[in-house]
Amino acid sequence: MDPFISSLMAYNDKYDADLLERAYLKADLLHKDQKRKSGEPYIIHPKAVAVILAELGVDSNTIAAGLLHDVVEDTHYTLDECTRDFGSEIAMLVDGVTKLTSLVYESKEERQAENIRKMFLAMSKDIRILVIKLADRLHNMRTIQYQSPAKQIEKSRETLDIYAPLAARLGIYAFKFEMEDISFRTLYPAEWEELDSQMQAMSSLREQVVEDVISQVSEALNNLGIKFEIYGRKKHYYSIYKKMQFQKKGLEEIFDLNAVRVIVDSVKDCYGVLGTVHTMWTPIPGRFKDYIAMPKPNGYQSLHTTLIGKNGSPFEIQIRTREMHEVAEYGIAAHWKYKEGVKSDDEETKLAWIRQTLEAQQDNSDPTAFVESLKMDLFSNQVFVFTPKGDIMELPAGSTPLDFAFKIHTAIGAKCVGAKVNGKMVPIDYRLQNGEIIDIVTSNNSSGPSIDWLKIVKTSSAKAKIRQYLKKENRSEKAEQGRALLEKTAKRKGWDLQTMLKQSYVTKAAKAMNYESIEDLYNAVSYGGAVLNRTMILCESYYHEERQAELKRREKEEARLLNPKEKRKTSGSKGVSVKGVGNLLIHFAKCCSPVPGDEIIGFVTKGNGVSIHRKDCINMLSLPENTKVRMIDVQWEANKNNLTYDAVISIMGEDRKGLLAECSKICEQMDININGVNLRTDQDNIVSVTFTLAILNLDDVEKIMAKMRTVPGVVDVYRGSF
Ligand code: MN
Repeated sequence: MDPFISSLMAYNDKYDADLLERAYLKADLLHKDQKRKSGEPYIIHPKAVAVILAELGVDSNTIAAGLLHDVVEDTHYTLDECTRDFGSEIAMLVDGVTKLTSLVYESKEERQAENIRKMFLAMSKDIRILVIKLADRLHNMRTIQYQSPAKQIEKSRETLDIYAPLAARLGIYAFKFEMEDISFRTLYPAEWEELDSQMQAMSSLREQVVEDVISQVSEALNNLGIKFEIYGRKKHYYSIYKKMQFQKKGLEEIFDLNAVRVIVDSVKDCYGVLGTVHTMWTPIPGRFKDYIAMPKPNGYQSLHTTLIGKNGSPFEIQIRTREMHEVAEYGIAAHWKYKEGVKSDDEETKLAWIRQTLEAQQDNSDPTAFVESLKMDLFSNQVFVFTPKGDIMELPAGSTPLDFAFKIHTAIGAKCVGAKVNGKMVPIDYRLQNGEIIDIVTSNNSSGPSIDWLKIVKTSSAKAKIRQYLKKENRSEKAEQGRALLEKTAKRKGWDLQTMLKQSYVTKAAKAMNYESIEDLYNAVSYGGAVLNRTMILCESYYHEERQAELKRREKEEARLLNPKEKRKTSGSKGVSVKGVGNLLIHFAKCCSPVPGDEIIGFVTKGNGVSIHRKDCINMLSLPENTKVRMIDVQWEANKNNLTYDAVISIMGEDRKGLLAECSKICEQMDININGVNLRTDQDNIVSVTFTLAILNLDDVEKIMAKMRTVPGVVDVYRGSF
């Protein structure tokens, strides 16, 4: 057997030597051409990791995975090949470590550090993955001097922020202290030097105190026949430094600087040792801690007491069983060997759960027996992803880009159309994985949240935001229905929507009915009934009001235009003087309707005064000889008062649309009133129209007849009716 494998087997003879040897040889072969920064063959690193793991007492598969932990990351060896050669469990562990290693993150901010730690836990589906990663980091820290100064600082910072607290969380204090001390020395060399020289200066005194205590305790316990192990406890520089900083005390003021640890076989012996030392030295009140009866939340058990030694210098004694000591040093890993039951709360509850699961294990000596219990359920219900700026977001497992988008901002969620995950486009229902960088893609053309989104999102906050959005949308949808109903009703009534259902009328109606907005009114209208009717009535009344006002305005305007001109009067009998006749009643004959300028003649009727005819009137020309004696001469007086006379003018033309309108327009343009229109359509599409016009004189008649002749389609224009 390879001496290296033999050295591993020394930790536990139940280890699978064949498996470990195969893993070792495979790793050695794959890393053959690679070198560490120190110049040594790369394989020393996986070997060292394997040893660290064996010290913890982990199972064979974990050690094998430790040997293989860098092969997928650093060589051509694939995960599939690993599965083929070593089985799915080891491949799963190697894959887990590879994922943790390839994770890119920035731990610049303290608040992010906790999230990164959580993410590490979440990504370690099996706690052994994290244990391997910690062993890997521990060895890298032990050899950090070969890295560039910048890299040393970066790695130390990261170790202090992420890895040491993770080790502590798993209860692997041996890792935590060593990691912290190396980081401390790298990050704060001046402080480390100062503390170191102080420690050196005090060491002789310190060592003497410790040696005195050790010899006296050993003698007493031997006399009692108690089996024990005793040693001076090494204090860690970083914890001393932190304590001095925190308590603002000098090195000599740190109480438990001189410390001795006693390890015995049973709990009974623990209390036996405590009683013994309390009879030998005076305990400092309030410094005694029974963590056996009351374990720390992380499962730590021990008796602590501080005593006054000779010269009055205090020292601490810690008393615990071998099992308690393993738990104190190796935490979760110690459960590969020992069972412990602990109570705890908060974050630690989850770890305690693992411990309690482990407690159920009957035979603790078989390193493979615990494997099933180590399936981590820690943070498995969460997923940790990065924003493009490197901030970590914690979401429930199964969350989608939509959850992420809504968590950033409601507006971003509402416009989300997809996302880029590590630079690749994914749909909105993609399930986010630990460590991914999520860049939300938004579009102003997005149709916005739909009811389907509720099925996609995982977080209740995103659901609430979508519901809120949809509720708002529904409201305006309802309002749209209301508007449509109102318009439909108006159209059915023959309303012109542009003039009778103006926005301003509806707004006014909304106000009149005490609705806060037109939207609210439409909303109510959508249900039809009284609100719809009332809106219609109000809009109609607003329309009429406005129309009346408009008409009045126009009338005023017209009056203003017409006012300068004298109002024309209709003729009556005035404007005609009759030669040789006194004040006779006269009227104008309808048959020829003479106007000033026409040659006229009077006809004395029987009992109806004198009727005035044109001389060319057919009725006059065709008078019987015996009645011609009734004809008298008449003459037009000067038309001083602008009296108008009815003139009858007829046109004949094509029966086309607009003919009448054009003729009317001519009258309008000449400022001649139309007192009557008579219209007749012939069979062959000829129309005859007779106008009765209020005109001043013959000039007007001739002018208007000339104009009417120019109207397209007009065939003939003549005086008199058809
Ligand atoms: Mn490594």
